[in-house]
Amino acid sequence: MSQVQQITVLGATGSIGLSTLDVIARHPQRYRVFALSGFSRLAELEALCMIYRPRFAVAQNAQAARQLQGGLHAAGLTTQVLFGEQGLCEVAAHPEVDTVMAAIVGAAGLKPTLAAVEAGKKVLLANKEALVMSGALFIQAVRSSGAVLLPIDSEHNAIFQCLPGDYARGLASVGVRRIMLTASGGPFRQTPLEQLAEVTPEQACAHPNWSMGRKISVDSASMMNKGLELIEACWLFDAQPEQVEVVIHPQSVIHSLVDYVDGSVLAQLGNPDMRTPISHALAWPQRIDSGVAPLDLFVVARLDFEAPDEQRFPCLRLARQAAEVSGTAPAMLNAANEVAVAAFLERRIRFPEIASIIDAVLNAEAAVAVECLDTVLAADHRARALAEQWLSRRE
Ligand code: NAD
Ligand code: MG
Repeated sequence: MSQVQQITVLGATGSIGLSTLDVIARHPQRYRVFALSGFSRLAELEALCMIYRPRFAVAQNAQAARQLQGGLHAAGLTTQVLFGEQGLCEVAAHPEVDTVMAAIVGAAGLKPTLAAVEAGKKVLLANKEALVMSGALFIQAVRSSGAVLLPIDSEHNAIFQCLPGDYARGLASVGVRRIMLTASGGPFRQTPLEQLAEVTPEQACAHPNWSMGRKISVDSASMMNKGLELIEACWLFDAQPEQVEVVIHPQSVIHSLVDYVDGSVLAQLGNPDMRTPISHALAWPQRIDSGVAPLDLFVVARLDFEAPDEQRFPCLRLARQAAEVSGTAPAMLNAANEVAVAAFLERRIRFPEIASIIDAVLNAEAAVAVECLDTVLAADHRARALAEQWLSRRE
């Protein structure tokens, strides 16, 4: 590769955003930061702008943008500061951008990620919620724009690495029997069931193997993260929900596996550090140094596996049901989960009530077929309203 790649990092102040910038900084001859976005952490966004000197920065709102613009001008930077969803879409689809890291958390990332896809960019997808919500629309947009979609979720990146290049013709045509998604089981894998009602947000966010943002940490503790990933895998690899098996693997060394009809099982292994999938996707089809330490199998010593317990992890069952129902069900599942996780983090509900809210929302309204983006957004809004109603009835 001769030309320097221009990169937009959506969600630059987050866990994935910072890991992406760490990798980019190791390869200044290959990558240049074109735009950075942040939301609530304006001081962090300003500090990143000082280091990476992007053409654009995107802040939460007009007031934050004015403040950031003032600070950057005073420091002699020519960075132009935009704001809000429109600003995010603009830097995602800008004609000078080659690659977009979609690392905003939750439904807020949907429109900017779709803007990158529709503009035919190389899109590195961390923001799984965007794909879970919009499913077929998202994949159709990838096909019609010619965008290159590469998974950042470690499991999906692992599966991508274990599949042959021509898997888009269908998993059966390349001899795949099933996909095995590994899951650590999170911090509550062995907590006595009766104690789950007492767990705190701090305990839920203390993941045994990965350091991540708060929302995905709670999703990992409830295993809704694996449920969202099951739906994500179905869309990315054109798989049926029953072709995707979830395997608990507490060491998080095997990032996922592909089972072929001849009995071969291919797996991708590595230390649990998101810079590996980020580097893989950034440089694909080449390989670059990520800064991740080599895997020491003698330190790992053993790899364990167990089946997930649906009584402990009801969110996994709810997500599988939503995947099977399809239509707007995954968007409703995701929206209800976002409201429930925020309520848990604010200590308004107990941990097991996350699943109760989602269950109630999914039962309150039937899913419909997805016609267009408005159908998805309406389902998202309706599910949020139903979840809020559940919360106010409880309080
Ligand atoms: P995080 O909370 O650390 O960062 C989220 C980023 O999104 C921040 O930059 C924040 O400013 C921005 N943001 C939040 N709300 C926003 C809004 N309403 N509008 C615009 N921007 C907003 O989260 P994270 O752990 O980096 O996760 C980001 C995404 O990557 C999530 O979808 C998550 O599921 C996925 N992911 C993360 C990991 C991980 O190891 N952290 C692994 C796999 C997938
Ligand atoms: Mg993952």
